Amino acid sequence: MAADCRGSPRGNVRPSRWYTPVPMSQTLFPFTAIVGQDDLKRALILNAVRPDIGGVLIRGERGTAKSTAVRGLAVLLPQIDVVHGCRFACSPDSPSLCSDCEDRLTAGGPLPSEQRSTPFIDLPVSATEDRVVGTLDIERILRSGERHFEPGVLASANRGILYIDEVNLLDDHVVDVLLDAAAMGVNIVEREGVSFSHPARFVLVGTMNPEEGELRPQLTDRFGLSVEVRSVPELHARTEILRRRLAFDNEPPAFTEEYEAEEAALRERIRNAQEHLPRVLITDRHLRVTAELVTAAMVDGHRAELAILKTAQANAAFEARDVVTIGDLALASRLALPHRRRRGPLEGNASDMTAVQDVLDRASDEEAELASDEDGVAGDEKGGESASSADSPKRGR
Ligand SMILES: [Zn+2]
Repeated sequence: MAADCRGSPRGNVRPSRWYTPVPMSQTLFPFTAIVGQDDLKRALILNAVRPDIGGVLIRGERGTAKSTAVRGLAVLLPQIDVVHGCRFACSPDSPSLCSDCEDRLTAGGPLPSEQRSTPFIDLPVSATEDRVVGTLDIERILRSGERHFEPGVLASANRGILYIDEVNLLDDHVVDVLLDAAAMGVNIVEREGVSFSHPARFVLVGTMNPEEGELRPQLTDRFGLSVEVRSVPELHARTEILRRRLAFDNEPPAFTEEYEAEEAALRERIRNAQEHLPRVLITDRHLRVTAELVTAAMVDGHRAELAILKTAQANAAFEARDVVTIGDLALASRLALPHRRRRGPLEGNASDMTAVQDVLDRASDEEAELASDEDGVAGDEKGGESASSADSPKRGR
């Protein structure tokens, strides 16, 4: 289907013909039935809790549950409130609206809402820029004066998951466009003085097999997190993977039913974490440790620091805690640092995280000391400032 469309004149192909929205009624292998791959599952969950972490790059060989996990997560995401009839799934509560909804507002119309499933869009590597951003039909504008915009993938993916299998094979320019839209949260298309814009906030999940070529370092850095996925080595776990796969293939609905309670519990936990997130504390000590971690990993820029802090905060929320711990920062560094490290003879082995581990060990000792100091203070009536005064709390996003 995609091959037929490549040479078609713009505007003639409806979006549904060239990307694959996954029908949610289709029976999918449950996320909670995936054996092992804990970092992969956690990285996906944390992006669901907090989409501004910036997505996940999943590196690994074929047949390692990569796409099963991503599809499984989409099913777990709660329904979203959207403006009734909006092609871009605008949120009725957000000030950022598409040009259509802005026009409706200007005309004095109300914006009633409806519920939809969180979108999951599977983008083929043959996608062109036009198909990603959408097209303005200038001929129609000239003919009838009516603005006509043919939505692209960014429209369909708004507030959902945009999945790109083998992202390293996608045209570099298209990847740039995707990452720019993801960073700005808006897609603006301009042609001949006419413009159309719509919100484009989505969690970008890309997979790649490093044996088939690397991604440019500038692009790798734009993914919030990355996970190296390997096949599970333990015999017991491998046997369990096979047993579950066979059971699912034999009778998908019966197998899925077995996991219904676990799926519902995880869905609830993600929703609770989303609500709890703004109340999770990050202290000055966490900011300092994060800066030390990034320096120790010899990574440039603030993107890594922000990714670590947001991930740690989302993890604390998912664990129903009010304060970030060094354990959260350790997990976040493992997910946010390795893909940003420079690879070369002078930089050493990118997977060598000894210096990062040293920072974590020191920070963890400090955390233990602070906790015992606090216990002491609590013991004799906790007067004035307890822990370190540098530990002033910060909340929110
Ligand atoms: Zn809209």
